[in-house]
Amino acid sequence: MTEARARRVVVTGGAGFVGSHLCERLLAEGADVVCIDNFATGSAENIRHLAAHDGFRCVEADVVRPLRVPGRVDLVFHLASAASPRDYLRLPVETLEAGSQGTRNALDLAAEHGARFVLASTSEVYGDPLQHPQNERYWGNVNPVGPRSVYDEAKRYAEALTMAYHRTRGADIGIARIFNSYGPRMRPDDGRAIPAFISQALAGEPITVTGDGLQTRSVCYVEDTVAGLLALAGSDLTGPVNIGSPYELSMLRLAELVRSMSGSDSEIVLVGRPVDDPRFRRPDISLAAQALGWVPRVSMEDGLRRTIDWFARSAAARPVGRST
Ligand code: NAD
Repeated sequence: MTEARARRVVVTGGAGFVGSHLCERLLAEGADVVCIDNFATGSAENIRHLAAHDGFRCVEADVVRPLRVPGRVDLVFHLASAASPRDYLRLPVETLEAGSQGTRNALDLAAEHGARFVLASTSEVYGDPLQHPQNERYWGNVNPVGPRSVYDEAKRYAEALTMAYHRTRGADIGIARIFNSYGPRMRPDDGRAIPAFISQALAGEPITVTGDGLQTRSVCYVEDTVAGLLALAGSDLTGPVNIGSPYELSMLRLAELVRSMSGSDSEIVLVGRPVDDPRFRRPDISLAAQALGWVPRVSMEDGLRRTIDWFARSAAARPVGRST
C-alpha cells in the first residue's frame, strides 16, 4: 500500500479491535496516525505498543463532540462505534449518536482538511437478508425497532449522511460494508462468537452456540479487513463495497473447528438465539475484487491459529484471580 505513505491519517475508534490493527498497519507503511477514541469499548492496552512510535498520537475524545485536529489531515477513517451486540445493546443511545452526530463530525473534520473520508459501515445494514449472498445493490431487511436497530439503523443513517455529503458537498468518500472480522485483541467477553468460543475452549468450559447452530457467518481475518479498508482509501471508489470473506460456515462447524484447533475437549451446548439474529451472511465480493483488486488472503485455519495463539498468550499473561 503506497497511499498511506507520508500521509497524516485520522482513525476514529483507533483503540478498538479493527482500529488498532489499522493504526498499526498505517504506521508500518509510513503514515502519521492520529487516533481519536473515548475508550467506550476499546482500550489503551490495544494501542500501548504504538505509543513509542514517533508518528502516533492518541487523543481521548468523543466523536459526538466537534472534532479538531491541528495541522494537516489527508485521510479520515471513521470507525468509532460500539460494534459487538453486547456493547451496542448496553450502549444503545451512544451507538445511535456515534453513527449519526459522530459521523457528521468526522465528515466535517475531513471536509475542513479536504481529506478523503472512509466510513466503516457493516453487513448489518443487510439485516436478516432475503438475498444470499449479499451484494451491494441489496437494500436489506432490517427491523427498525428491534433491539439491534440501534446499530443497524445508525450505520444505515451514517451511509445516507456520507452519501449526502458526497452528492451535495462534493466530499471525497468511500463506504466499506465490513462483514464479521476476527483476530487478536477481540475481548473474550464482547459477546461475539469467535472470542467466546476460543476463550471457552481454552478454559475447558462448555462452548455455547446460539439457536440450532446452523445459522451461518462468513468470517474474515482482521489483517484482510484492514487491507480492504486501505485499498478503498487508496482508490476513488465511493461504494458501498463489501469487505468480508465469502468463506461461509455454520456456527456449529466454527465451534467444532475452534475446539479441535485449541486441543480442547469442551462440550458444545446450544443456547437461546438472540432476537433478529441473521440466519445467513455471506458477502458477494465481486466489486471489491474488480474495483480494488482486493480479496481476503488469510485462510480460516491460519487466521484461527493466530487468534487462538494470541488468546492463549493473553490468558497466560492475565493475573491470577481474573476470569476474563
Ligand atoms: P470496537 O468496539 O473494538 O472498536 C470501536 C472503537 O470505537 C473503540 O475503541 C471505542 O472505544 C471507540 N468508540 C466508540 N464510541 C466512540 C465515541 N463516541 N467516540 C470515540 N470513540 C468511540 O469495534 P470493532 O470491532 O473494532 O469495530 C470497529 C468499526 O468497524 C465499527 O465502526 C464497526 O461498526 C465496524 N465493523 C466491525 C466489524 C467486526 O467484525 N469487527 C464488522 C462490521 C463493521
